[in-house]
This record gives sequence, structure tokens and C-alpha cells, in this order.
Amino acid sequence: MVDIRSVHKSFGSLEVLKGIDLTVRTGEVTVILGPSGSGKSTLLRTINHLEKVDGGAISVDGALIGYRRAGDRLYELPEREVLRQRTRIGFVFQNFNLFPHLTVLHNIIEAPVSALKRPRKEAVESARRLLDRVGLAEKADAYPRQLSGGQQQRVAIARALALEPKLLLFDEPTSALDPELVGEVLDVIKDLAHQGTTMIVVTHEIGFAREVADTVVFMDDGRIVEQGPPGDVLDNPRHDRTRAFLSKVL
Ligand code: ATP
Ligand code: MG
Repeated sequence: MVDIRSVHKSFGSLEVLKGIDLTVRTGEVTVILGPSGSGKSTLLRTINHLEKVDGGAISVDGALIGYRRAGDRLYELPEREVLRQRTRIGFVFQNFNLFPHLTVLHNIIEAPVSALKRPRKEAVESARRLLDRVGLAEKADAYPRQLSGGQQQRVAIARALALEPKLLLFDEPTSALDPELVGEVLDVIKDLAHQGTTMIVVTHEIGFAREVADTVVFMDDGRIVEQGPPGDVLDNPRHDRTRAFLSKVL
């Protein structure tokens, strides 16, 4: 499903991704761990071309992201093609990023109606089903500021699902939440995992990683230091840096 090959990315003279190789199979959940500044968010952002890579290539579901290959050369895709690719990759951010001036229902139908040209009635019906799925059927007409952080994040997940993405990316989806609200958001993500949604989740929630991840990836200083099943990486890490990190977050 996701194939990341030799991805390099620098900001000015700062090399942030130093050759990343990662494969995510359809229906699998990959959890990315690593210290602050190790490049986790940057890697997620390259997957939907919010950041352009300087070297290497990323493909999702067989399609090269951001580029077209002709012979052995790559040509950048026009913006509208990039936007079209991006509609099929859901992104859930740390800070929810809901539209504050739109109701919950309107937040969810906005992209399906405007980007995918779905008939409004169909989009509304689908949004109500999604709200039910994340346990917020009764909040359709509320505004984001009237919701708790956990509820806002569940709306953000419903909004991402409304585009029927092939792949969902989560960047620390619970780290802005009060501790008592973390569980309700993780439960929604767990349900998605059990339904076979392909996901890449950056999180420090080790319990979640252990329960849900097919693969745990540990990043440090722009590189993948270690990856494997949670039982290996979390319980028997082979690298000192993984051990040192886990001893801090566990
Ligand atoms: P955190 O756990 O704190 O979210 P992270 O692993 O997600 O960290 P990134 O956000 O990917 O780390 O950042 C990696 C490095 O790249 C950091 O040193 C950061 O300051 C730098 N960086 C990220 N985005 C930019 C940017 N747009 N311009 C310049 N530097 C950037
Ligand atoms: Mg980050």
C-alpha cells in the first residue's frame, strides 16, 4: 500500500530525513515512535506531499506521490493532481484543525461536496453515519468550540473518513488532550484498525502501539533505527537508542 524508498529531506542545511525506507501493507497499522525532532511529522507530511522530498520516492497504492515517471525521469505533478492524490489520504493532526465557523456536520461534508463533488444529500447521510460511528450522532449541529478536545478529535477522524481514504495518517492524535480524554480517541482508532483500515500513527502511547500495531518503527535523528512487531521493538529492543527512549516514555 505505502512504499517509501530512500527518502531524503532537508530544511536549508538541516537534514531531517536521512534515507527512510518503509513499507506498509494494506490493512496494517504502523506506529512511529521517536524523540522530538527525529523527523516523524516531516515523514508523515512527505507521504501526502505537504513536504516535497529531495531524494527518493513514495508511492501509495501503486501511484507515485507528487510526481509522474517518464522513462527514468520524474516530473512534478500539477497542483490539482497533487490535491486529488491528497483527497485519498486522510490526515489527522494533533490540534484537530476543524473549521471553527462550521458546524460538526458541515466540517465533515465540506471536502466531499467541494472537492469530490458528491451530492449534498448523500454527503450528509454519510456524515451522519460517520458521526454515529465515532459516537457523536447528537453533536451534528454543534460548533467545534462547544465540544471537548476528545470530541473535536473524533469529529476530525470522521471528517478524514468522509473522503473514503485508502490510507489514514495520524500525527500525535492524542497528545493535545487531557489524559481522561485520550482513551475515547484511541478507542475510535482501534475500531478502525480492527476494520482493516491502513494507518500510520505517530504516537507516544505505548499501550496502544502494543495492542494495535502490526509494525512499530523507532526513528531517531532522521533515520529508522529499528522496526518490527511490537513484541520485538517494545519488549526486546536491539538498539541502545530505542531502549533509552522507551525507558523515558514507559
Ligand atoms: P516532535 O515529536 O516534536 O513532533 P518530530 O519527530 O515530528 O518531532 P519534525 O517536526 O519532523 O520532528 O522535525 C524534524 C526537524 O525538522 C526539527 O529539527 C524541526 O525543527 C525541523 N523542521 C520541521 N519542519 C520545518 C520547516 N518547515 N522548516 C525548517 N525546519 C523544520
Ligand atoms: Mg511531530
